[in-house]
Amino acid sequence: MTSLPVLPSNQTSEHSDQNSEHSDQTAEHGNEGGAQPRKAHLLNLPDDALKDWLSERGYPAFRAKQIRRWLYSGRAESFDSMSDLPAKLRAELAESFDIFQASEAHVSTSRDGTEKILVRLADGGEVECVLLRDGDRRSICVSSQVGCAMGCVFCASGLDGVDRNLTRGEILEQMLRLQHRLPADERLSHIVMMGMGEPLANLPGVLAALDVARNPDGLGISPRRITISTVGLPPAIDKLAASKIPYNLAVSLHAPNDELRSRLVPVNQKIGIEPVLSAADRYFQSSGRRLTFEYVLLGGINDSESCAHELTRVLRGRTVMMNVIPYNPVEGLPYKTPSKESISRFKQILESSGVNVMFRQRKGDEIDAACGQLRRNRGGKTK
Ligand code: SF4
Repeated sequence: MTSLPVLPSNQTSEHSDQNSEHSDQTAEHGNEGGAQPRKAHLLNLPDDALKDWLSERGYPAFRAKQIRRWLYSGRAESFDSMSDLPAKLRAELAESFDIFQASEAHVSTSRDGTEKILVRLADGGEVECVLLRDGDRRSICVSSQVGCAMGCVFCASGLDGVDRNLTRGEILEQMLRLQHRLPADERLSHIVMMGMGEPLANLPGVLAALDVARNPDGLGISPRRITISTVGLPPAIDKLAASKIPYNLAVSLHAPNDELRSRLVPVNQKIGIEPVLSAADRYFQSSGRRLTFEYVLLGGINDSESCAHELTRVLRGRTVMMNVIPYNPVEGLPYKTPSKESISRFKQILESSGVNVMFRQRKGDEIDAACGQLRRNRGGKTK
């Protein structure tokens, strides 16, 4: 996956480094990083399990709906604030569960409204999530794993490998922490699973969290406004297609041929570009959703005219949106942003061959916006 907090659709943003100003806060809200929690994570509990828990204590099933409403619409951070629940039930919930189990180790805000949270999980592992404001859109970019095993050479998230999958509750907690940063009259509108980790390597956790995100009793976000970004793991793409839920699929291509792609996205050595494209085609056929391909443009690496021409041949006959993202440099990595000339040449070649292409602007550059950068620059850890 791309792992860059860029706009999730055909929108552009006005971000100017000259005008940028940001604030950094280091804070600990919630679990004081590292200690294993004594209670269960309520966000991890499937609805049926919550109903069972309630029924064992003599409460009717409708209490589960009330609790859900408090969590996902009411933005409750404590059981005490769930004012229509009996006091006894609130006390019992507080005895057994935490709503949030992580803490916010660091928060960065940029002038363009992008906010990035470095979330410290209960076991001390750290992940990142981002809130992007663009017009009416309130999009969030969420992590699915601590670290990443895909090893994309230009990405800070994969530098230390993968530590573990996030649970459904840990994924939902990122969403809710970002939602709570919005004023009461604003709602989250879009979700992009494009933070740290490869979402399709944690399909059960990701799908369980997204079930809640799209449920009208949860965050109520249509699957058409939810994008799952992947480097392309064909068996997992087929499983996603079998779920018959029309999420948007964004496949990170980054190169038009196996030789270059295997250098940039090492997992490609075991898979190959053709099986990835075929799986993406099958997803398109089964979901009817237009595919998105992502291409991080690296100066002097994959931004040549011949790469652009080869890419047009790869995409020929496919209904796709091509998102090209000029690289956001990562300290300690040798890759650089492409020149303005190579960006415009690349764009012109794709457009003139009829490819639907969007050059996406980076948001929040001054706050270590590339995924994994904040964690890394702050000496972060997997666990
Ligand atoms: S290493 Fe992982 S997180 Fe980074 S771009 Fe690749 S798939 Fe995404």
